[in-house]
Formats: sequence, structure tokens, C-alpha cells
Amino acid sequence: MIDLCIRGAAVVTAGGVQQGAVNVAGGKIVSLGEALPARETVDATGKVLLPGLVDLHVHFSEPGRDWEGWDTGTRSAAAGGVTTVVDMPLNAIPATTDAAALALKLAAAQGQAHVDYALWGGLVRDNRAQVAELLGGGVIGLKAFMYDTTDPTFPPAPDGILYTGMQQLAARGGLLSVHAENSDLIHTLVADLRSAGRHDPQAWLEAHPPVTEVEAVARAIRFASETGCRLHIVHVSLPASVRLVSQAKASGVRVTCEVCAHHLTLNADDFRRIGPAAKCAPPLREKADVDELWALLLAGEIDTVASDHSPCTEAMKEGDIWQTWGGINGVQLTLPLLLTEGLGRGLSWPQLAGLCCTRPAELAGLPHKGQLAAGADADLVLVDPAERWTLQRADLLTRHPWSPFLGREFTGRVERVWLRGEAVHGAGAVQGRGRWQTVQEA
Ligand SMILES: [Zn+2]
Repeated sequence: MIDLCIRGAAVVTAGGVQQGAVNVAGGKIVSLGEALPARETVDATGKVLLPGLVDLHVHFSEPGRDWEGWDTGTRSAAAGGVTTVVDMPLNAIPATTDAAALALKLAAAQGQAHVDYALWGGLVRDNRAQVAELLGGGVIGLKAFMYDTTDPTFPPAPDGILYTGMQQLAARGGLLSVHAENSDLIHTLVADLRSAGRHDPQAWLEAHPPVTEVEAVARAIRFASETGCRLHIVHVSLPASVRLVSQAKASGVRVTCEVCAHHLTLNADDFRRIGPAAKCAPPLREKADVDELWALLLAGEIDTVASDHSPCTEAMKEGDIWQTWGGINGVQLTLPLLLTEGLGRGLSWPQLAGLCCTRPAELAGLPHKGQLAAGADADLVLVDPAERWTLQRADLLTRHPWSPFLGREFTGRVERVWLRGEAVHGAGAVQGRGRWQTVQEA
């Protein structure tokens, strides 16, 4: 007798959507197809079963800050069907830029995390002497900022650090993710806008025009091409950036790109209307760009969709456009947003699973995650694709439940979520079962 059998759902696999059961024993999927006798059988007729999402881009800001934390962050993740999160090296204190800081972050996550987790290390000015200990310590790769956010705990990597850091990573087969915006250009534009007395949301857009992103994307790709480093460009927001990545891939450069759910489901008009709650970097883009981004995504030109879950207190999201926090806390909403917006635009279920589950798991070196297949971890998300609902503050399990999506209507709801065969959201959910994940050989 196996542990769990979910039957009757439309099961989303890499090859398509099939009817049949998913059978689970010992935390793994043992077979698809015929229902086996199980200690618990779930009748999921009319529902859709997806692999758990692998979100390569969250900031849980613990240890050191009260902006989120592993408890609420992973509770919110589970409620959104995310069963593996990969936490960024910045916003926690200390930033994850050496082995000692990595140990502190792992200690903070352990026992508190309700979903599985992996970590990025940081490449900053200048911790190149710590790259080996970070990679040896089990991070899935390093993250660097080309844009200076003026966070003193996480200085950016100027070109020299970026290039030589990539050489170091390339020698070890490591992965670098970058925030690609031209720092010098943005800071000059910001200074000019501020001295002109500008404090409106439009000024934030004017400080981050397309050239600031596209130039940095091109430069990062050039460095990857020269060094052979595997490069993942996070939160690209412009069609021109995606095209650069596609061209580079075609010429053999090992580069991939991520788009965030908010860049697909909000636009510059929303930002002008909503203000700081929708402030992020790169900023929200014009509607025509968002439509083109969707066309590229549907055409398979984008590798992953992530949340860039970037929480803070509610007070930090109010006030002057230059001072308010730039980031959106969306780990719980990636899947509902894609169900609502994506399926309507022609996104298929297997495409959705590829972008949010399978491909990010591959990039992170976690091949046992992100797919409904025999032998994979039984990370499962049961979705009611027809349920309509409106996002209220009480729905958000993040520590500070602000969101630019409050009041938005959704179609498709996450009903139950299992992590390695045990419920972590919905009926019978158990807490604190998340485990640290490190790179495995495919
Ligand atoms: Zn981020």
C-alpha cells in the first residue's frame, strides 16, 4: 500500500496534460496512470495537478530584518503552490557573501521553513576570495548587482568584479544571476530628476529608461560570452532584452532569462495609478512592451518566471517615490497571476509548468524537483481552474500584507499543496518540513 493517491485530476507533465492518478510513496512520485491502493486517496475530479513551483527569486530578509522571515515567507509560498524557494543573498543581515553568513542564513531557515529551500550566494565588491567557500558550501550559484541600490550590505559588482568573478565561476561550472541595469546612467538621471524637483511615479520610470536595462543586459552577455560563465539574467522587463538573450543563445552563449509575474501583469499605467506599492526595479513597462513580452514568452523565448518576492513593512511603501522601497512581495501570487492572465493569452499548462517548475529546477541543479514524473519529489499543487476570487489582505500570508494586486479578480485557485508527499497547504497541512536543497548531478 502506498502513502497517497491523487486521482481524477488533469495531470500536467512535460509531454502534455493527461488524465490519471499520481501515486506517491516515501515522498516520491512512484507512478502515473492507474490508481494504486493508498493510505489516503484524494478525488480531484475537475481539478488540475501541477508540479510544485520552484521560485528562483525570493528575498525573505532573515536573519537581521523584520521585513518577512522564513516562517511567513514560506507559508505564503506554500499557499501559492511554491514548494521550493531560492533565497537571494541580499536584504538579510549579514548578506550571504561568505561561508559564515551562509551558515547564519541556514540556521535561520532550519525548522522554520514550510517548503524546501536553496540559497544564492552574493558576488560583491569585493568578495572574490570567498567565491570558492560559497560554492563549496552548497549555494546554487551567485547573484550580482550591476545596479548600485546603495544598500551598504550588498555593494554592486562593477565590471572588473563581474568579469573576473565570471571567470572564477566558469572554472567551476557555476551559475551567475545578475540584476542588469546601468548604474551610472540611472544615478545621473536620478540626480537630474531630483534637482528638477520631481517626486512623481513617472520620474521613477524616467530614471530607468529602456537603455539602462538593455545596455546592461548586452554587457553581461558579452562578459558571459568571453568567460564561458553560465549567466541567468533576472527580471528582464523589456522585449529588447529577451531578444538579446535569444540571439546570444543561438550563437552558443550559456545565457538564460527570467521574467517576473508583476512585469507580465502590471504596466506603467498601473504604476502611475498605484504609486509606490507598484515600485520596482527595473520598473513596470508600457503596455505595448508587456504585450510583446507575452508574445516572446508564448514563443518559448523566456526561460523562467519568478516572483522576485521583495517584502518590507507597509510604512516603507508609503511616501516619496525616491525613498520608498522598490520591490513587490508576490511569492503567493505568481501561479494565480499566470492562471488568470496567462491562460487567457494562450499559455498552455505544460508551458506554465516549464516556466515555473521544470526549467527553474534544472537551472538550480535540482532535477528531482519541478516535474510530475516517476522518481521526482512528490511536490504537488492541486488547482481549481474555474474558481473566481478577489484578492483581499486576509488572503496574503506574507508578514506585511500589502500588494499592488489587492482588489484584483483572479480565475483559478490553489486548493491543496503537498511537499514530498505531505500536505503543506490546505486540508491536513503540516508545518516546518522544509529541507535545504543543494545542487545535484542531473
Ligand atoms: Zn530580487
